[in-house]
Amino acid sequence: MKFSKRKFTKLLGFSVLVLLSQFKIILAASKKIINPNLSKEQKNIMFNEGTERPFSSELLKEKRKGFYHCANCGNKLFASTAKYNSGTGWPSFTEALPGAFKTKIDYSFGMQRVEYHCAKCGVHHGHVFNDGPKESGKRFCNNGLCLIFKPD
Ligand SMILES: [Zn+2]
Repeated sequence: MKFSKRKFTKLLGFSVLVLLSQFKIILAASKKIINPNLSKEQKNIMFNEGTERPFSSELLKEKRKGFYHCANCGNKLFASTAKYNSGTGWPSFTEALPGAFKTKIDYSFGMQRVEYHCAKCGVHHGHVFNDGPKESGKRFCNNGLCLIFKPD
C-alpha cells in the first residue's frame, strides 16, 4: 500500500483527535456530580479545587465515634480515630482508610503540594502533608464541606 504524504498527515491528525476526545471523556467521567444537593461552595471546592474558609467547618468540633464519608458519592474516607486538632482550621486526619483516595502533585500558588481526591468519584478533598503527629507522619488537611460524618 502506498500512502501519499498528505493522506498520512490527514490520517495522523485524525488519530490525534480521536485520542484527545477519548481522553476528555475519561477526564469527564472521573469527576461527576453524584449528589444533586451539593451547594455552590461544595461544587467549587470539589470540582475547581477550591478551599473553604479556615475555622468555618462544623466538623472541627465533631468528637463522636464514626466515619467520615465523601459528600458527593458517600465513599468511606476516614475513621474518627484518625481525626485530631491540628490548629490549622481545617478538619485534619493522621490517616485515610485504605484505597479511599488518589493523589497528584499540585503546583498551584508557587508551592508543591500533594493533592488528594476521592478514589471513587474523583472530587477534590484537600492536601496531605508530612507533618502529622502520629507514626504515619501524615496530616490530611480536608475541606469540611467535602465530608459527611456518620456517627456509629
Ligand atoms: Zn467521592
